[in-house]
Amino acid sequence: MCLIPILIGMIVSPSTPVLSSSMMPVSRQLLARVRDVMAGADKAQQRLDKIVSVIAADMVAEVCSVYVIRPGEVLELFSTKGLNASAVHNTRLRVGEGLIGLVGAQARPIALADAASHPDFVLRPETGEELYQSLMGVPVLRGGRVIGVISVQNRIRRNYSDEEIEVLETVAMVLAELISGGELIDRAELMPADGNALLPLRIAGSTINPGLGVGVAVLHEPKFNVTRLVAEDVDFEHERLQNAVSEMHGALDDMMKQSDLAADGEHREVLESYQMISEDTGWFKRIDEAVSSGLTAEAAVQKINNDIRVRMDQITDPYLRERIHDLEDLSTRLLDHLSGPNALNGPLAGDDTIHNANSLILVARNMGPAQLLDYDRSKLVGLVLEEGSPTAHVSIVARALDIPVVGQARDILNQIEMGEPIIVDGTNAQVFIRPGEEVCERFKNSARVRAERKAAYSQLRDLKSITKDGVRISLNINAGLLIDMPHLHDMGADGIGLYRTEIPFMVRSDFPDVAAQREIYTKVFSQSSAKPVIFRTLDVGSDKILPYWSAQDEENPAMGWRAIRISLDRPMILRQQLRALIQAAVGRDLSVMFPMVAEVSEFDQARSLLERELKRESERGRDGPKSVRAGVMLEVPSLLFQLPVLLERVDFVSVGSNDLCQFLFAADRGNPRLSKRYDMLSPPVLSMLRDVVVHCEKAGVDLSLCGEMAADPLDAMALIGIGFRSISVQPSAVGPIKAMIRSLDLKPLGQYVETLYGLSQHSLRGNILSFAKDQGVKV
Ligand code: PEP
Ligand code: MG
Repeated sequence: MCLIPILIGMIVSPSTPVLSSSMMPVSRQLLARVRDVMAGADKAQQRLDKIVSVIAADMVAEVCSVYVIRPGEVLELFSTKGLNASAVHNTRLRVGEGLIGLVGAQARPIALADAASHPDFVLRPETGEELYQSLMGVPVLRGGRVIGVISVQNRIRRNYSDEEIEVLETVAMVLAELISGGELIDRAELMPADGNALLPLRIAGSTINPGLGVGVAVLHEPKFNVTRLVAEDVDFEHERLQNAVSEMHGALDDMMKQSDLAADGEHREVLESYQMISEDTGWFKRIDEAVSSGLTAEAAVQKINNDIRVRMDQITDPYLRERIHDLEDLSTRLLDHLSGPNALNGPLAGDDTIHNANSLILVARNMGPAQLLDYDRSKLVGLVLEEGSPTAHVSIVARALDIPVVGQARDILNQIEMGEPIIVDGTNAQVFIRPGEEVCERFKNSARVRAERKAAYSQLRDLKSITKDGVRISLNINAGLLIDMPHLHDMGADGIGLYRTEIPFMVRSDFPDVAAQREIYTKVFSQSSAKPVIFRTLDVGSDKILPYWSAQDEENPAMGWRAIRISLDRPMILRQQLRALIQAAVGRDLSVMFPMVAEVSEFDQARSLLERELKRESERGRDGPKSVRAGVMLEVPSLLFQLPVLLERVDFVSVGSNDLCQFLFAADRGNPRLSKRYDMLSPPVLSMLRDVVVHCEKAGVDLSLCGEMAADPLDAMALIGIGFRSISVQPSAVGPIKAMIRSLDLKPLGQYVETLYGLSQHSLRGNILSFAKDQGVKV
């Protein structure tokens, strides 16, 4: 079943209903009055003063006040009808302080019949507000950020209705135009800076796609510049909306047809699911209802988009948040069809610096996948996201386009202006804003060197990973999406040492059935040509959440119900996956690996499910794989103490050093404060891995290592010194590691490593690096 309509329903279903028909005339009347004030010749402050009076009268409130955001995250009273006039421009509340500050902090309306009893209530005596018992406040939003708060107050206890909140929110949209118009406050103030505004700045984030980009910043903030809010003719607006929606669908169809992205791969699926969202009737219905309430089609789109953005702050589910970005993307697109190109070309067209630049780096809070495709790909050299995650749809499309991406770049939109120089270092998860000439030059140099090195590595493509003294090392890649597959050949890797099957599950909107899984695995097999692939069964749970499974509320998800634990408790899931793998592997070598196995009996159970599925296929008279191997990830320390028994049963072992070391050191692998605390090149890790090598050699079981550790040439050299003859790494690491292997003499390394196990140092990195340099190893 496709879950998209249900999910969209969850996102767009309003926290407050759209105006009931009985409220419509009031809302329209108020909007019309506000529009008249806005159109007048008064100065901005006078217009604001008139607007608060109009609102107070219309909403039958004794007080209406407007607070505007000022530097330092402060909300300043800018205008009031009803409170003491002397408080205007004097009363200031920090965001988060008092009820007004609460609205600002949460970007959500509040409506309280008895305001003073709310725990956040703070009395500001200079305003004279002690006379008023009830309060309703709504945020004034612009580009998803709070730029002010508008409130009404009444002397008596009053239960403000949902419809009244809705009316005030609609007026808040008009106020957003006034506040950001540049007359009330300097526009620059709306770009809150931390005092460093013009200094060079480095922002750390997380790697979504490695690589380096140097260029100028394009701030991708959908610019909702809707000025005509109130409909003159509601029927006409319905018709305009309908036409724009049809046009948008047509344009999206064309985009899908023309896209120069490969026709295969999950990014296609991502774009298709995006297209499905655009056809969702729930979203359209909400906009249409907003038109019925008296807004123009543009204002209705903006209104629903605001609602969605506010909902976003309450939604933690990563999949739903991703859908929200898709909806935002669509809202912008729909506005373009309503009022001509706006957000997409507007910023690029209007700014000469950007227009003339050859290299653009897109900076966004987050974005939908199709928005990325709207930019000129020949100029796009990087992407920075305030949010963003490796499995976000935009990330998948960016990887397909081979653009470096840094995610989790916190607050970057507040630190940078359109057209400023910026460097994206995806490999090291950092962004430099306004770098000096020298820094820019260094990065440009580094980009050149990287490009040269890449070219040099590509010359190694057809050469074997073999040490100077002739020892063959199997060098494989880790993969998870079909877009990773070409790297297997481009990089000249030996095979896929880890195919993370959960990744294709994570980018889908529903659980793939056997046929859908078979299709994915068949493509993996055919794209791998004859090279071997190790498929790891579903490793979900912990940070890998499937949107269509209700998330478990666990205190410690990394050590929770995940991976093989789920697969054994819900055997049908594993059986179906094994069935799909067996069917895809007809006539081929099938290698299946089970993740997070903690005891031998778990492996036994998993293997018996594999046998059962093989039997099932043969009983149905179907051909099977040419050979079948079953192995384990060694990533839970308990397995280290069962090696002799385990190795009698498994066909191969692959060390998952990411998890193994997180549990070994009791140090969360995702916690940046701990990321450098323990070193992989340390006596406990090397001794542990040496033990594993010895056991596997004795038992004659194939051993590999597929954690991040193997991707660093120095660490990989140490692994080879310990005795590993196979490793699996991210595709970009294949070139450097192959170069290292081909410059390595194994004999002295083996002897050297023997001297390290008994040392007591925190890290052996320095020692090993000195050895590599002395020996001329390319690390
Ligand atoms: C590991 O734990 O080292 C590993 C390779 O698996 P993942 O990173 O997918 O948990
Ligand atoms: Mg793991």
